[in-house]
Amino acid sequence: MKKLAVPDKKICVACGVCMKACRKEAISIYRGCFAQVDEEKCVGCGLCAKACPKDAIVIENKGATFYAVAMSVCHICKCVFNGAGTALTVSTMMHGEYGVDDVCLSTLAIVDRTGVRGKILNKLTDEEVKKLQLSADKLKSVIAQISL
Ligand code: SF4
Ligand code: SF4
Repeated sequence: MKKLAVPDKKICVACGVCMKACRKEAISIYRGCFAQVDEEKCVGCGLCAKACPKDAIVIENKGATFYAVAMSVCHICKCVFNGAGTALTVSTMMHGEYGVDDVCLSTLAIVDRTGVRGKILNKLTDEEVKKLQLSADKLKSVIAQISL
């Protein structure tokens, strides 16, 4: 099974240290927000994970992403309990943001002791907004098929 670096967007501070450590040029910083890995280029060597000052990267066998999910949940809990107000990508109900309504999407928000205190709206390109709306529509159509 192929090994792969998986950065945690919620912990990453976009410092770029991992990008410099990677000898395969497999890491880029997405819009200055978080590290992302090109799965085709990554060979799972772990240099990026060792270099990351935030321990934000785990090396996983492709197909097993539960460690990263568990780390994310732990990190969200810490942010809720320390109450400092942390910017995190979490799922919240959309009320017209980016032209999307009535469905929960993961977007940037401030999380503190009260839960989600408010959303941080990024400036997106028209194409990005279109893709986000498409994702929202797909999600809605899946939800519509569920009978509870
Ligand atoms: S595991 Fe190795 S190849 Fe993959 S992104 Fe990290 S440093 Fe690059
Ligand atoms: S070194 Fe760690 S914190 Fe810095 S960009 Fe890479 S994953 Fe993010």
